[in-house]
Amino acid sequence: MALIVQKYGGTSLGSIERIKAVAERVKHARDRGDSLVVVVSAMAGETNRLLGLAGALAEQPEPRETDVLAATGEQLSSALLAIRLQVLGCPAVSLLGYQVPIATDSNHGRARIMSANPARVLKTLAEGRVAVVAGYQGVDDYGDVTTLGRGASDLTAVALAAALKADGCEIYTDVDGVYTADPGVCAQARRLARISYDEMLEMAGLGAKVLQLRSVELARRYNVPLVVKSSFTEDSEGTWVGHEDRSMEDVLVSGITLDQNQSKLTIAGVHDRPGLAARIFGPIAASGVVVDMIIQNASADGRTDVTFTVARGDLHRALEVLRGVAAEIGAAGVRSEEQVAKVSVVGVGMRTHAGVAAKMFEVLAAERVNIEMISTSEIKISVVVRAKYGELATRVLHDAFVTGGGVEGAAPEGGQG
Ligand code: ASP
Ligand code: MG
Repeated sequence: MALIVQKYGGTSLGSIERIKAVAERVKHARDRGDSLVVVVSAMAGETNRLLGLAGALAEQPEPRETDVLAATGEQLSSALLAIRLQVLGCPAVSLLGYQVPIATDSNHGRARIMSANPARVLKTLAEGRVAVVAGYQGVDDYGDVTTLGRGASDLTAVALAAALKADGCEIYTDVDGVYTADPGVCAQARRLARISYDEMLEMAGLGAKVLQLRSVELARRYNVPLVVKSSFTEDSEGTWVGHEDRSMEDVLVSGITLDQNQSKLTIAGVHDRPGLAARIFGPIAASGVVVDMIIQNASADGRTDVTFTVARGDLHRALEVLRGVAAEIGAAGVRSEEQVAKVSVVGVGMRTHAGVAAKMFEVLAAERVNIEMISTSEIKISVVVRAKYGELATRVLHDAFVTGGGVEGAAPEGGQG
């Protein structure tokens, strides 16, 4: 008998009909003899609706109260699913964050999990019942309700799977796995059968929304293999996310990601001297803005430009801070481009194969797409391009690396190919 954690997202539970369908699925799995812990998200749109209510009453609602409010979304769906399971003759109990308990720090709205106590869930399972756990929420040292950040029901599922030493953690959503690119942008995109944690982390961080970033980090740390599947089809094989193995290196590029939600800022004509970057990025960081890519040009006349990207929602705050810095340090000026896109190729195969970057630049050049910034890591190359070229760049890179199979003549480093 296996212990399985299943997690159902908001669209999977988006209506009474969907909740009935999920209950059937859970019952099916239990009829096979497995012990089941089911983590639920709020019904689709519910968390936004709740936060909207608070926003209609106060400009800056107190985070403690916002958490009490937002956590009701998962309270509702956990009760509804348990109610339906009981109708199907499948004994089930809903458990809220504080009842498990999922212990967190007191950072309301983005609390970190300190521990997930497996005792009560195990007792529930031992009684032959399904534990339906409300995702996204926990309880702090004061006994107050906390939430773990948007999309964090995935995190609840992984934390429980780790604490329970579960045999599997299945994440059910409205797509049947992780794709080589966004199918809405690239018709050729296909489902990946397997992907490594590292690749998934890059893809999640780069804006592929299938799994929440922190849940993948936690899964890697505690060796929780994940499978991402659709709850809308019967025969979804999904995508396995796990540790890298040799065969994964044979695939040069696993996916192309597109982040359309970026802006670019430049502070121009600054005196190039030690401490410059600290003077610029210290105040930016202090304002809570996360900077992504940075380039600084060397210059002949001792003046330099520094360009960087931020999430579009942070542009105005970053601009304000940067204008202040520019005035203080006597820069020539500040420029910004609100709409830029970041396109990335991701694959663990890059660790051992050369030539990916060169090929990427060639492919973009052939389409006359100008590259404005470049950054690389061991398993990723990202470029910033004009926003209007983002989708085109994604498609041609997908054609070249995924459909087309990659770099001609690329040889494993140090080997003979
Ligand atoms: N309901 C929460 C949200 O919308 C958590 C989740 O869905 O995972 O962010
Ligand atoms: Mg989600």
